Amino acid sequence: MKKTITLIPGDGIGPEVVAGAVTVLNRVAVRFGHTFEYRTALAGGAALDAHGVPLPDDTLGKCRTSDAVLLGAVGGPKWDPNPQHLKPERALLGLRKELGLFANIRPAKIYAALADASALKREVVEGVDIVVVRELTGGLYFGKPAGFEMRNGEPVGFNTMIYSESEVRRIVRAAFDIARKRSKRLCSVDKANVLETSQLWRRVATETAAEFPDVELSHMYVDNCSMQLVRNPKQFDVIVTENMFGDILSDEAAMLTGSIGMLASASLGGTVALYEPVHGSAPDIAGQDKANPIATIASAAMMLKYSFGLTDASDAVEHAIETVLGKGLRTGDIHTPGTTLLGSKGMAEAVAAEV
Ligand code: NAD
Repeated sequence: MKKTITLIPGDGIGPEVVAGAVTVLNRVAVRFGHTFEYRTALAGGAALDAHGVPLPDDTLGKCRTSDAVLLGAVGGPKWDPNPQHLKPERALLGLRKELGLFANIRPAKIYAALADASALKREVVEGVDIVVVRELTGGLYFGKPAGFEMRNGEPVGFNTMIYSESEVRRIVRAAFDIARKRSKRLCSVDKANVLETSQLWRRVATETAAEFPDVELSHMYVDNCSMQLVRNPKQFDVIVTENMFGDILSDEAAMLTGSIGMLASASLGGTVALYEPVHGSAPDIAGQDKANPIATIASAAMMLKYSFGLTDASDAVEHAIETVLGKGLRTGDIHTPGTTLLGSKGMAEAVAAEV
């Protein structure tokens, strides 16, 4: 199979972790007989420095005409004083919007060798393997009207939570599809006891379930879900929810793992999907060969599965990560006494060798 991948290394540790993922992808190509062709594109601070905009047209063009996009991270103190429209992070919003990425997929998986890194007890988190599917382009964050005005003589701020049936149906379908490829259980999270948008959400989710008779659908209120994630996270497999609930729950689920350098993500929906680690550009360790590349490598594994349908290759990468951690190899962020400290490059090479 031949695939074209646009690489957007970005800023800070972005270039280091993307290079690590490429090391592993190259190994996958040899081992499974595929060809990956890479194009590099600028976004974020790197694009601001070169072209004066966070997301150049050239980058969008490359993304639109490739089979998948792998992004490192954007941002850093150098561009913090920039006005809102010239912030590096605008590139992320632009990519989501222009590529039509309405579904954000965030796995929270506990690697057995790292179970003690969680703030929760080992017996609560060991074996946790959750995917949070978050609606990304609707709801409270985008609803109009939104703004500030004077009411009854005092300033008020207001936002609108709004979802159309088609917006709910497409994200719920995407989640059913993912659940179908996993343990065939989907939990739809809402606040249907209070919110009209949630009542619509629940009705559409229930109707959509008829298209997926092999997947078991359950519903849960968001406040209960946030409690259950800490009380008994193992009860969940795939969770689907609207934008703001998903923003909060995906961070909560992610932190069950206790290590930001391990968390992958995918944004799907359009013809081209975007894969990126959850972490930022970590300016404090940039350029020092200290960054943990595993989140980006795991994001590349998601790309193999979701964009290219290469489940075997994806599983091989996941398995390689587990094996490397099982051997006690660690980057600085997850290093504990008795384990072996590697740099960013060394970790990527170790995972590639295991593939
Ligand atoms: P951050 O995720 O960059 O860093 C938080 C802490 O985690 C730091 O101590 C950092 O060293 C550590 N860390 C993060 N990733 C790591 C890795 N792979 N290996 C080892 N340690 C790692 O968050 P921040 O400091 O709040 O943000 C820094 C910059 O990144 C800001 O400009 C922010 O806007 C940007 N940011 C970008 C994205 C993105 O591109 N998707 C996401 C979040 C933040």
